[in-house]
Amino acid sequence: MLVVMDSHATPEQVDEVVRAIRAMNLAAHPMPGATRTAIGITGNVGAVDPRTLEVLPGVLELIRVTKPFKLASREMHEADTVVRTPQTVIGPGTFTLIAGPCSVENEDMILRTAEYLMGRGVRLLRAGAFKPRTSPYSFQGMGLEGLKILEKARKKTGIGIVTELMDTDNAGAVEDAADVIQIGTRNMQNFSLLKRVAKARKPVLLKRGMAATLEEWLMAAEYVMAGGNYQVILCERGVRTFNDHSRNTLDLSVIPPAKKLSHLPILVDPSHGTGKRDYVPPMALAALAAGADGLLLEVHPDPEHAQSDGAQSLSFPGFEKLLEGLRGLAGPLQKQIQ
Ligand code: PEP
Ligand code: MN
Repeated sequence: MLVVMDSHATPEQVDEVVRAIRAMNLAAHPMPGATRTAIGITGNVGAVDPRTLEVLPGVLELIRVTKPFKLASREMHEADTVVRTPQTVIGPGTFTLIAGPCSVENEDMILRTAEYLMGRGVRLLRAGAFKPRTSPYSFQGMGLEGLKILEKARKKTGIGIVTELMDTDNAGAVEDAADVIQIGTRNMQNFSLLKRVAKARKPVLLKRGMAATLEEWLMAAEYVMAGGNYQVILCERGVRTFNDHSRNTLDLSVIPPAKKLSHLPILVDPSHGTGKRDYVPPMALAALAAGADGLLLEVHPDPEHAQSDGAQSLSFPGFEKLLEGLRGLAGPLQKQIQ
């Protein structure tokens, strides 16, 4: 249920509605808008009895939200959500690039990449310190030491940090180091992890599970939002299909329905989506054309010697060429590359 307040409603009247919702043992989520405040109600199993709320002063109307995901739905929040980090914004009118290596490998390569990206106007660096690898014998990431390197790169260059949290044990450390906390495809339905990042002070980048429907993905976002963190970014990274010509099937067709059903920004990761560097630029351009709000790209100073995902990582010159293409396409689409 959504309580829409009158445009003249006072903050006291909003507080009174919030108190009334809590008195019903439900959760209230006030959402200030450009002209009026709306208050989302969650926690109810059946329908909420509207009578106690609709008589309160300042209440304009009550709207039933029909989708199972409430806070993530456009029914509850009509305007596109803008996610903010200290370095940049992700949301309408912009096309935000997040780039960097798959893993933190050493200090030198992170600093070089951060400096390079800042010089090209990219404000967010991606790199995993904790890596979810299919084989236990593959490089598992530098862990806490990797987080320290990322913090150093931010301090030195001003770049924002996007890095993956794999388990609740390291939540505090990743939350401190990151400007955006990444939840990987294998953890999209790790509900304890989702509940933990719901309490984090940082935005969450939620990758789509490799076999998740759009509804399951939005329900995962709902876990984060229901716990009080409304700064959620969706990221399409390819799903499992019968195809054997690429690592995954990058499902760009999910963007229009995701935009229709939800107000959350959506990024595309063409690196994991294709698994091969040559296929990344065309799919990156297609993502921009399809209405995505930005990209998560693997870029490495020396892809041939990367510790993970080198085959799908762009070199610096490769990234530069893609950037040129994106700039050419962004103008006509009225998107500002960030
Ligand atoms: C990554 O971004 O490096 C990663 C492990 O992605 P995913 O969770 O999509 O496989
Ligand atoms: Mn990777």
